[in-house]
Amino acid sequence: MQQGVRSIRAMTGTLILRPGREASVRRRHPWIFSGAVGSLDGEPEPGGAVKVLSADREWLAWATISPSSQIRARIWSWDEAQPITEELIRSRVAAAVAGRAHLAFATNGVRLVFAENDHLPGVVADRYGEFVVVQLQHSGADRYRRVLIDALASLPGVTGVLDRSDPDVREGLSPRSGTAAGATPPATVDVWEKAEKLRWSFEVDLHSGHKTGFYLDQRHNRTVVASLAAGRRVLDVFCYTGGFTVASLAGGAQSVLAVDSSRPALQLAARNLARNHLATAELVPANAFDYLRSLRDTGRLFDLVIVDPPKLAASAAKVTAASRGYKDLNLAAIALLARGGHLVTFSCSGAIDAALFQKIVFGAALDARRDLWIEARLSQPSDHPVLLTFPEGEYLKGLVLRVG
Ligand code: SAH
Repeated sequence: MQQGVRSIRAMTGTLILRPGREASVRRRHPWIFSGAVGSLDGEPEPGGAVKVLSADREWLAWATISPSSQIRARIWSWDEAQPITEELIRSRVAAAVAGRAHLAFATNGVRLVFAENDHLPGVVADRYGEFVVVQLQHSGADRYRRVLIDALASLPGVTGVLDRSDPDVREGLSPRSGTAAGATPPATVDVWEKAEKLRWSFEVDLHSGHKTGFYLDQRHNRTVVASLAAGRRVLDVFCYTGGFTVASLAGGAQSVLAVDSSRPALQLAARNLARNHLATAELVPANAFDYLRSLRDTGRLFDLVIVDPPKLAASAAKVTAASRGYKDLNLAAIALLARGGHLVTFSCSGAIDAALFQKIVFGAALDARRDLWIEARLSQPSDHPVLLTFPEGEYLKGLVLRVG
């Protein structure tokens, strides 16, 4: 009896906020930081569900607990009558998948679930043809692993689900990777994309590629790059497996020089050019920071330069150092542009917002003593939607700049 009561209480602990800390929860922001927690009753296990109450004991939300994370609790439901159940999770997955259905004509590589933005905190699921790759980022998401994977595995046309809960996306939890349901994906899978008259495809390594295998978030920007590439000498910095290199050549580029520090990524890039029947590119394994400087000494110029570095600011604490890195890269890139050329530059650091990124690029242009015009602002595509109550969902920003 005693035992039963204890376990029920453990399932539904109560998190009481400090006085004055309920405003963000009422505005439907899904994160509760450790500093906002007044008390936690019922000793819920990691990932366990809790009721969230204000300091005045008013009802606020249902959340899961992550004891080892600064984000101590994540909210899954603001409706008292709708606690976190398997049924709720199944319906959230179904709604997220339905929201992407219209993309099926454009690609077989789609982000199906984008975490907090789909009201499934810490849950990422990307579809690559008949396979789905999942990442579960905290103990709350982990707790519902089985129901999430079953829901994804039962989608029409899906034959296997791969878990890629790698260390870099796990908040203090042990990493987990491997086949979670159905068939194991082969070493690489085919991903195709089409837009207007363009169509290309990529070999994607789901087992050890970056993120879940590929930069699905640059899909739309690949078409933007293709539209700028005709007849031009292109430099693709941080090319990974050749997303922008393939797009440039498909768009009619005269030549492409592509740089990345990862040799396996460059090998896949070479295969991706071949499979699209495109001219070959110069694929250079190098540290981009050094390489850009050495290119400058050669006097070689380019008409289109793409700069898509990895996340330089992993947290707010790294913003200053990262800003310097972005500035150095953009300064070096601007110096390599022929007159009338374009720079397409990105930051995927959530901690650096679009306004700060623009300021950084402005600083680089000033130092380079060149006039630059913003012709377009780029972002993430519609399968990475930003929930209005969760501005952190917006992480990818880019600028298309023309140089005078
Ligand atoms: N533009 C790519 C994605 C780039 S991701 C696409 O659209 O698919 C960032 C890339 O930077 C990764 O491929 C990584 O291998 C590479 N990288 C990280 N640090 C680097 C460095 N110092 N020099 C060159 N490449 C680097």
